[in-house]
Parts: sequence; structure tokens; C-alpha cells
Amino acid sequence: MLQSLMSDDHPLTLDWILDRAAAQFPRTELVSRLPGGALHRYRYADFARRTRRLANALGALGVRPGDRVASLCWNEHRHLELYFAAPLAGAVIHTLNARLHPDELAYIVGDAEDRVLFVHRSLLGAWEAVRGRVSVGRVVVIADEPPAPGGPGEDGCEEYEALIAGQPDTFEPPPLDERQAAGMCYTSGTTGRPKGVLYSHRSTFLMAMMSCMADAVGVSERDCVLPVVPMYHANAWGLPYAAALAGAKQVFPGRDLGAEALLGLFASEGVTLTGGVPTVFMDVLRLLDGRPGAWDLSAMRSLLIGGSAAPPALIEGFGRHGLHVTHAWGMTEMNPLGSVANLKRSHGALGEADRLAARARQGHPVPICEFRCTGEDGAIRPWDGESQGELQVRGPSVARAYHGGAGADDFTADGWFRTGDIVAIDEHGSILIADRARDVVKSGGEWISSVALENALMAHPAVAEAAVFAAEDERWGERPLAAVVPAPGASLDPAALRAHLEPQFLRWWLPAAYVEVDEVPRTSTGKFDKAALRARYGRMLADGGA
Ligand code: AMP
Repeated sequence: MLQSLMSDDHPLTLDWILDRAAAQFPRTELVSRLPGGALHRYRYADFARRTRRLANALGALGVRPGDRVASLCWNEHRHLELYFAAPLAGAVIHTLNARLHPDELAYIVGDAEDRVLFVHRSLLGAWEAVRGRVSVGRVVVIADEPPAPGGPGEDGCEEYEALIAGQPDTFEPPPLDERQAAGMCYTSGTTGRPKGVLYSHRSTFLMAMMSCMADAVGVSERDCVLPVVPMYHANAWGLPYAAALAGAKQVFPGRDLGAEALLGLFASEGVTLTGGVPTVFMDVLRLLDGRPGAWDLSAMRSLLIGGSAAPPALIEGFGRHGLHVTHAWGMTEMNPLGSVANLKRSHGALGEADRLAARARQGHPVPICEFRCTGEDGAIRPWDGESQGELQVRGPSVARAYHGGAGADDFTADGWFRTGDIVAIDEHGSILIADRARDVVKSGGEWISSVALENALMAHPAVAEAAVFAAEDERWGERPLAAVVPAPGASLDPAALRAHLEPQFLRWWLPAAYVEVDEVPRTSTGKFDKAALRARYGRMLADGGA
């Protein structure tokens, strides 16, 4: 009886965020840096109008509820329009990673069964390498200059502005269920094929609300948020949705993520909050160190750094410039924020070194997430800061399965997701990642599959065995290194191996160095012992040995 008087079943759907931004913050600016450096500016009122037109246009393109709408775009305002228009129409925005090999992209587009694609003109080359191998119904080109129909790669494509021009400014969404998919992103962070992760409206909404909490990221109406993390990487960590919910100004850097361009935007737009991987911020720090005081960064309150470990020197380095780093950890499967390394009351008064050490950990779980650390025997490890095990997570933003049922072993029967990160949890509930259980290398925030490289190397006649593992790298966090056992009578020839791999992989995937070994160490179960290889050679690049 009382149940029917309550309103707690109002669905948490993304149309709410759009409507609120348009009604409450109509004059707040959204700024995009276009190729060439010009800035495009408009406001939430314009953004909402165009987004509703786009939602109408999707219907005209034949997009139906549940369909996947793919994007191949940089961080910019039209990508944000897609972030809202597709879910508004009951469809799913599927962001494609512009840095993937065409083979991988073709697989992902096919696996997701993308129905239409929105592609920025500068990425038409990447699309050309894929289009013949997939069946995407309609392709829409996003261009910054007047359309040039019939230009290279544009045959048969529509143009974004023309597409939305004639559409009404209002849109009546179909009935939306908070548990239906709103977004989709593939992760290569586990072995094997990339796996699709679906984000529901509810999960995305809760992540946005949570990001606005003071002890998480604290996004507020007074913020000016610049996501450096690509919008094709786990919803740019949810920052665009959180910023729209809060009514914050947003600045999109486009494709130029160089330190000079970023610092220019931080200063000229009064950015208060930015987020990205350590590699990008290392360049920013280097430039700042070289020209201290050259940019007015007095508005900046937090640099959210994650995606791979933020080295203490980076956190300390920004501190020299009066800039605060917030170290965060997350995963595509978690939509994506999992933990933040803020200091808690329980830390008490810490000395400088201990503060830095605590802030360089991956931190404690955000309020919509729960952590446990599990040993190989399945026993839960104590929070003593020393006992290591695999981190398992659960909560309303954590995926319960991959698209199509792939990788079912990553999910436990009792509702936890196995992250593959080996951690120790301390008395404050803060995790420290010690290792990774899976054979992947994370370079500059993007995954490289060691297994794919090994298979290709072992197909070379001069290679008997090859194991690829992550070596520490000052700039990229990690780079792949190959330990090679030459075939009988052969010797290690790095140039030949590189030439063999080059046609098959993107340049940034190629091993940074090759070491000759008599045999690849094995674990007790006979697998390549990557931990042993990392212990022996893992610092080779950082120590300048390559
Ligand atoms: P992705 O799904 O591509 O975002 O990758 C998630 C994985 O990146 C995690 O499971 C970690 O292995 C790694 N990762 C993310 N953030 C951090 C961090 N702050 N420190 C160390 N590793 C991280």
C-alpha cells in the first residue's frame, strides 16, 4: 500500500541530465578546440537543441531502440551530442577507439553489430581500412569546414550538419528503462579478443552523481572540466556526464593533446578540473618545469590522474607548482571509476613522505563500489597492507557480463568481478596495485596484447619461443619487451623481427627491445612466468639498458 505512494521508482535515465542542463544552466559554455586551434563555443541551451535534433535524425536514419550507434571521434562537442542523443533515442552510443589496428576495429564493429557510424573527417582514413569488412548501414561524417561531398572516403556518407539541420528542436523519447543500455565500450584489458561492456542509463547516472560527491571527484557547477582522457575510453571516465549533471562548463581539447595546447586551454578557459593518463601529464609537468609561471593555472583545483599508476614524482612535481593531483583507479568494466586516493580522517596527521605514499596508492573505493582481495585459494585477504591477492569488485556501476557472454570466468557466481589486478589493501581500505594477473601491457593508457605479439613472433622461422612482457618506461608507463629463444642454428636479429612484426601491428605495439634467453622461465603450471621476466628485465628501459 505505502509502496504505491513512493516515487522512488522514477527511472535514472540520461534524458533527465540533458533536460536539467538545458533548463538550469542554459548559458553555461561548452568549448571545443578544433583542428588548427580555433575554438568552437556554444552553451548548454544550444547543445540541448542540437542533441534533440540529432535524436530525431537518428530515427530518420533508421536507428531503433537498442541499436548501436558507433562514433569514431575526438573529444569535442558533437561527440557530446552523440553521448546524449543515442541514449535519448533508446539506442546505445558505442565509442570506437581511434588508436586501434584496423583488424581490431573491424572485429569490434562486427561484434557490436553497429548500425550507423559517426566519424570525424580526420579519421576517415582509419575508417577506410575497415569499411569494406563490416556492414554498417549509414555513415555520417563530422566536419569542421563546409562539406565537400564526394571528397576522399566520403562517397555515400551523409554530413552531420546537413543531417540535423531540418530536424525539430524538440524530441519525445521512447519509454526508457533505467536498466537498458545507454553506452558501450570495448576493452582489450584482458587476454584474447576485445570484449564489449554495456553501460546502462542507471549505471551512468549513478556514476555521474557519485563523481559529483566531494570525496570522490567533487564535480560542481562552479567547475570548468577538461577531459584529456579520450571520449572513446570508458566515457572519458564519466566526466562529460558528471559535468552536464552538475552544470559545469566543459572544455574539449580535440585531437591535440600536446602539453602546450593543453596548458594554453587550462589557462585561457580557467579549467578547474582535468583528467587523463600519467603519460600526458608527464609532458605537461616537463613543460611547466621548463617555463614555470608561463601559464596562469590559479583556477585549477585538481588533476585527476589514472589509467595507469601515477608515479609519486609526478604527484610531487605538480605540487611544486601548487597543483593538486588526485590519483584514481578504474576499469572500463566499472563505468569506470573504482577508487580515489584522497586522504581520510583515519590517516591522521601524516608527515610529508607518508602523505605522498598514501596519495600515490590507488586509493579507497568510491561510494558505489565495494572491494575485496582474494587469494588463489579463494580466501579473503586481510586489510593489513601486506597480504596480496586479486582485487574483486562489485556495485551498481560494475558490469555483470561482457557483451555476447565472452569472458564469463571474469565474473564470480556470487556477483563479483575479477579485475586481474593484484593488490594489497591497507588498514584504511586503500588498495595498492602490485602486479597484474593477466598478460597485457598498458602503454600510455592503452592496451597491448602480449599474446598477439608472442604468436606473431613465434611464427618467425628464427624464433623457437618468445614471451612478451611489460617493462617499466618513464614516459609510457610500460612498454612491451620480448624475450626470445632463437631457433636452433639461428641468432637473435631484432631488426628482422621488427620488420616481421611491422606489417601486422601498429607502430606503438612493437616491442621496445628484444633480449635473448636460453629458455623462457615457466610457472609451476607450465605457463610463461612473466613475473620472473619482469623481475629480471623489467627495469631495463627505465635504467637505460635498451
Ligand atoms: P581500462 O579498462 O583500459 O581503463 O584499464 C583498467 C586497468 O588499468 C586496471 O585494471 C589497471 O590494471 C590499470 N589501471 C587503471 N588505473 C590505474 C592506476 N591508477 N594505477 C595502476 N593501474 C591502473
